[in-house]
Amino acid sequence: MIAAGSRASVIARDFPILGRPTSRGKELCYLDSAATSQKPQLVIDALVHFYTQDNANIHRGVYELAERATDAFEGARGKVAAFVNAAEPAEIIWTRNATEAINLVSMTWGLQNLKPGDAILTSQLEHHSNLVPWQLLAAKTGAELRYLEVDADGRHVLTDLDAKLAGCKLVALSHVSNTLGTIAPLDVIIPRAHAAGAVVLVDGAQSVPHFPVDVQALDVDFLAVSGHKMCGPFGIGFLYGKRALLEAMPPFLTGGDMIREVTYASSTYNEIPWKFEAGTSNVGDAVALGAAVDYLSGIGMDWVARHERELTGYALEALAPLERRGLAIYGPRGVDRAGVVSFNFGDIHAHDVASILDVEGVCVRAGHHCTMPLMEKMGWPATARASFYLYNTERDVDRLVAALEKAATLFKLA
Ligand code: PMP
Repeated sequence: MIAAGSRASVIARDFPILGRPTSRGKELCYLDSAATSQKPQLVIDALVHFYTQDNANIHRGVYELAERATDAFEGARGKVAAFVNAAEPAEIIWTRNATEAINLVSMTWGLQNLKPGDAILTSQLEHHSNLVPWQLLAAKTGAELRYLEVDADGRHVLTDLDAKLAGCKLVALSHVSNTLGTIAPLDVIIPRAHAAGAVVLVDGAQSVPHFPVDVQALDVDFLAVSGHKMCGPFGIGFLYGKRALLEAMPPFLTGGDMIREVTYASSTYNEIPWKFEAGTSNVGDAVALGAAVDYLSGIGMDWVARHERELTGYALEALAPLERRGLAIYGPRGVDRAGVVSFNFGDIHAHDVASILDVEGVCVRAGHHCTMPLMEKMGWPATARASFYLYNTERDVDRLVAALEKAATLFKLA
């Protein structure tokens, strides 16, 4: 058996950018995959192939090239559907990203189903993409927005779950926190949310790229995902929705392609998924996301999950000695957590930490990570965040530790 670390270093060779030096001549150490993943050559090739061999507008043409483009586009939908185990490709709606997928649900299902007296339950961990749409929806419909609390380690507090679920029509939770790596206990929450009569939307932006997600096993009603975090291009993502829900929802955007028949007086709408895909689609990027899904499936999502779990465990151990010099590591300890490690170092500002690491070729993100309410609750002005993916190795973690040691010396931390 190949050791996890060495398989990851072989995988890293599939990603051309990882072999390029930084402008300071350092080897790139990319630890920012929670922001966006790098792209393997075969995804870049799939884009080039589409535009050089198959490019035509879809669904409309009867000529061979247009049929090929349509087949590639709908084929990619089928690949994505299989990747999350949707019952059928029609339950996958292409969007620009997870944010658009969540807004789609908010502006269609949400406006149609919520009224004063209803409640929406989300959590204190959420990315702004899974928070602002619900604030707006609550303001528009008169529904109440509630938050499931998280403890000091960023773990969901479930003691008052049933009370919080009373009167809830919608539960919207991120599967994995992009700031703390917390994995939401969906196996506990979803059955109870359903028992309370709520529909469940899961923000899968940080889970679907990193471990197997089965929408039928989880029994989620909606799942929002961004392609760019799972080896695909920017500008393509998807919404999974159960057929019955999607069919009952009004359209989101309107225009070409989403109609069945239009008269001067009125219009009837296409069937799902096209009812939600007004206008010319992002065909090339969808096709390339299909290639990304093939790539990840070929490697095996079980392997990706195991590798990231091991690497995160390794990172927490390797960083531990620095805790004595003022490194504060946030997020759940002693339980399963995703490959996201947020931290602060002494009183060095997170942006300064990230800049020092950058000099060493180590890319981490610093800031509020689009979770401003969580940062305020925790009392952190900002954090630095290292996040891992299938191409990261123990060597990357060692380089992070070495760069942090340099920062400690520079700032004369004990
Ligand atoms: N939810 C979570 C948990 C995320 O991490 C992100 C991206 N950082 C999003 C939603 C939004 O993703 P996008 O900007 O690609 O729509």
